[in-house]
Amino acid sequence: MELTPRDLPSIDRLLQHPRLRELPRALALQAAREVLDEARQAARDGGWAHTLEELPALVAQRVEHASELRLRPVINATGVVIHTNLGRAPLSPAALEAARTAGEGYTNLEYDLDAGERGSRHALVTDLLRRLTGAEDALVTNNNAAAVLLILSALAQGRQAIISRGQLIEIGGGFRIPDVMRQSGVELIEVGTTNRTYAADYAAAITERTAVLLRVHASNFLQVGFVHQPSLAELVEVAGKHDVRLVDDLGSGTLLDTSQFGLAQEPMVQDSVAAGADLVCFSGDKLLGGPQAGIIVGRAAAIAALRRHPLMRAIRPDKLTLAALGATLAHYVRGEAEREVPVWRMLAASAESLRERASNLAQRLPAAARETRSAIGGGSLPGQTQTSWAVALTGPADELSAALRRAQPPVIGRIEDEHVLLDLRTVLPEQDTVLEAAVRSVR
Ligand SMILES: *Cc1c(COP(=O)(O)O)cnc(C)c1O
Repeated sequence: MELTPRDLPSIDRLLQHPRLRELPRALALQAAREVLDEARQAARDGGWAHTLEELPALVAQRVEHASELRLRPVINATGVVIHTNLGRAPLSPAALEAARTAGEGYTNLEYDLDAGERGSRHALVTDLLRRLTGAEDALVTNNNAAAVLLILSALAQGRQAIISRGQLIEIGGGFRIPDVMRQSGVELIEVGTTNRTYAADYAAAITERTAVLLRVHASNFLQVGFVHQPSLAELVEVAGKHDVRLVDDLGSGTLLDTSQFGLAQEPMVQDSVAAGADLVCFSGDKLLGGPQAGIIVGRAAAIAALRRHPLMRAIRPDKLTLAALGATLAHYVRGEAEREVPVWRMLAASAESLRERASNLAQRLPAAARETRSAIGGGSLPGQTQTSWAVALTGPADELSAALRRAQPPVIGRIEDEHVLLDLRTVLPEQDTVLEAAVRSVR
């Protein structure tokens, strides 16, 4: 029998249903209104897919959905270690525990326990950062984009910053270096050409209005062929001679040498500090493997100017971030980062151990184990890949991928010649059983 709008119950009657009476009133009312509106509309258009008996369940479902957590864990089987869309770096158990402890109760966030008076949140991680990078002082912001904005605003507002044409980059998500410079009230002076820039180009462009030479790491693309950029040491020399500050935006930056893992060398923070950059900034959640943060290290006077700047208050990190960051940095100080920081565990995993896990999983599913190559991602080491191993699932690849995305937890793989590949480099060994169950549930 065809449903007409007149057959639908009133909101009040619908909410009398035993299944709905106990639900939070305002939420249930809103959900009932939405469900009835949709049913009325569908009845008019001559096609409602449900029956009147289903109405209470539809309302209850909607109420439940309204308060479900939308940010959910997923299994990253893409092989891309620092995947911005999947939340970048997973945290170590110690970092998680530190954040949990800091969030659970009160902390000495801005309280000096020795003196019994107001302290500084910035002091919480500066010792660790100084020790690890050799810098005089350090500061943490909400993310690296904020760090660049703060540095330019504090050191060069109303003045000029010089940058190579080869480094006027877009990071992704619309973050473009020229836009950030404009936003900071800094006049952008471009030097060199797209492919070649020399130290002399910077020197020739310096005027009495110049405040900063800005070097930006080309995080997400490669320049090959007839290309040249001056070394950091050369730029330090130019900056020193003309009394301007040298700022090095490393993007990812790293404290460990990526070349130990069969990769090219991502610029290391310690090297920039040692070469004499005034300020070096990098992300907390790229190769460092910690929470989202921007980390600035460098000369004490420059850091002090940043700390005093009014923008600092707007981009300061919260206690959960500082707790997780402190615990992450402590792994490096103790020399255990490769074993404890998930990003490094993944990068350091041997092809042999990945092959073994892939063939075990393949046997149990069943599926095929296949050798593949995984990328780093997240603006680190563009073009660089490592040997990895994946479980290759056959079947209609698009449908299978969609089903895996709906699994509990969702599994995100990649499609390669009509197979869905689940790359184990980005799946920690302790997740293998969960991955297996999720794949089984959709096949
Ligand atoms: C990633 C990146 C940024 C932005 O860092 P976020 O932590 O994502 O804000 C800035 N500069 C460079 C060179 C980068 O690679």
